Amino acid sequence: MDTLKPYAAHEEQSLGRRFDEPKAPYRGEFQRDRDRIVHSTAFRRLMYKTQVFVNHEGDLYRTRLTHSLEVAQIARTVARALGLNEMLTEAICLAHDLGHTPFGHAGQDALNARMKDFGGFEHNLQSLRVVDELEAKYASFHGLNLTYETREGILKHCSKKNARELGEVGKRFLERKQPGLEAQLANIADAIAYNNHDVDDGFRAGLLSLEQLCEERLFDDQYQVVHAEHPGLEDRRLIYEIIRRMINTVVTDLIDQTASRLDELKPSSIDDVRSGRAAIVGFTDEVFEKHTNLKHFLNKNLYQHEKVLGMVGEAKGMIEVLFDLYMTDPEEMPAEFAGRASADDRDQTGKARVVADYVAGMTDRFAIAEYERLS
Ligand code: MG
Repeated sequence: MDTLKPYAAHEEQSLGRRFDEPKAPYRGEFQRDRDRIVHSTAFRRLMYKTQVFVNHEGDLYRTRLTHSLEVAQIARTVARALGLNEMLTEAICLAHDLGHTPFGHAGQDALNARMKDFGGFEHNLQSLRVVDELEAKYASFHGLNLTYETREGILKHCSKKNARELGEVGKRFLERKQPGLEAQLANIADAIAYNNHDVDDGFRAGLLSLEQLCEERLFDDQYQVVHAEHPGLEDRRLIYEIIRRMINTVVTDLIDQTASRLDELKPSSIDDVRSGRAAIVGFTDEVFEKHTNLKHFLNKNLYQHEKVLGMVGEAKGMIEVLFDLYMTDPEEMPAEFAGRASADDRDQTGKARVVADYVAGMTDRFAIAEYERLS
């Protein structure tokens, strides 16, 4: 990548992998990370995991997989425009949701509640756990042995307590420092992707109306433009025209504003970026406000919609039942997990973590099938 700027992540400056491996002849290190993620079991499972709508509700809604692809697409566009490392950006985006439970946030809440006395459960931390520990593909080590920079990007947030246990990759949360720009970008691209695709999915499901959406500035600005250019356009096309303009508006603002901050701060390396007090990748105040308002709007009107809550309420119960069953009878899990859960030196906390790993790894439909088999 000849257009890489000095403040981007450069492979020669990488803090490396946890276990040394010989370099690949035709691929860069971040490309290798990306490839390992795409080949992982957890990545394939994203196809059958809920984003907002439970997987079997309909074929056209986003799943964790299509969400992750949209995040990667948005982030790569920005990375390329800013001279950041596109391959690293993509790797982080494709891995960012690997630790999600079945049934989206309802699943995570249920599992977190069950894990309350055993260190809790947090999907973001679990994503790192998947690539560091749980993927079982290599003879010489657990996990995927990704580079530090990809792992840094996957760990978006983290409590001080967990940060202390994570070693190097947790340090920045104790020292209040920043991750590299690719990680900062992946984080914002996640929010841009769901803000926009959830408008589409919410409208498709009939849970959000045009009138409601037009109360949001980000949406209404583009509605006015499309309506003036194409009066009488049918609803589906209208929504698509508005959403693609919304994405374009926030992405353009993100690129311009970040470029001007970089111009002002002139970080000369990724270490300069990391030692900064605040994130550099970001919107102008005006767009940040509209983007945040849309987030709140979706939270109130879509994620908390009684129909969505109804679907996820059922899901919560299933996760609770499964967790309790495996805790009582670990032998109901596959041999590998059962063995780990009942290893002689396991206390309740260790056992609970194995059960949480197993439950979190399930797809929606596998969780439902297991629930039906066991209850
Ligand atoms: Mg996400």
